[in-house]
Amino acid sequence: MKKLIIANWKLNPTTLKDAQKLAASIERAKKNTVVLCPPTVYLSQIDYPNLGAQDCFWAEKGPHTGQTSAAQLKDLKVKYCLVGHSEKREVGDTDEMVNAKVKACLENKIIPVLCIGFGTTVEQDDLEVTDVLKQQLDIDLAGVDASEVVVAYEPVWAISSGDPYATKKIATPDHAEKISIFIKSKFGVEKVLYGGSANPSNAKGFLDQQNVDGLLVGGASLIASQFNSIINI
Ligand code: PEP
Repeated sequence: MKKLIIANWKLNPTTLKDAQKLAASIERAKKNTVVLCPPTVYLSQIDYPNLGAQDCFWAEKGPHTGQTSAAQLKDLKVKYCLVGHSEKREVGDTDEMVNAKVKACLENKIIPVLCIGFGTTVEQDDLEVTDVLKQQLDIDLAGVDASEVVVAYEPVWAISSGDPYATKKIATPDHAEKISIFIKSKFGVEKVLYGGSANPSNAKGFLDQQNVDGLLVGGASLIASQFNSIINI
């Protein structure tokens, strides 16, 4: 089964030239479905089969300075859009806002990649984690056909600060598998990714899990050799 591997470049790189260079050095892997999410400002100038955005706004147009709508992303042939990333929740995105963004994506035939796991802590056991996720998903998926949404489970404590060789604590594949099963069985979601310090050394462990359908990769997606080895697993 093909896995879905998404590169989240976050606020990198600093120039369009470097962004194009990075995209050109990522293989067009056939083994897995690969999506690049560059900064919005570069989206129209990156040549790659599958493009994703890092965020969107719920309104289609109007007096919303600085925002980018799902309708505008669709016009740029964007196929996927991250929604509810912990770095957006950290600066104010609420579950109600995330829900509106998920709906805007679906209305524009963009697959939302709903990121959950903000508010979890490394000390929590699986049951406590699922309690936090349930609170998020109940609102994030309200009024939505969950089978059309990809969920990325990203325990916030495992997300690195962009260091691809992160020695930070990361979740175990077994934990990711259990949480994926919970999300699928309780919410009708069909595809769940793991995200948080994934790199070439640990990626296979996650991808080998039956219910982990892929990875959301931050830091390691900025180094072509690292990302290429992940997408070829
Ligand atoms: C992310 O920000 O979605 C992410 C998974 O980052 P990293 O791989 O750097 O932990």
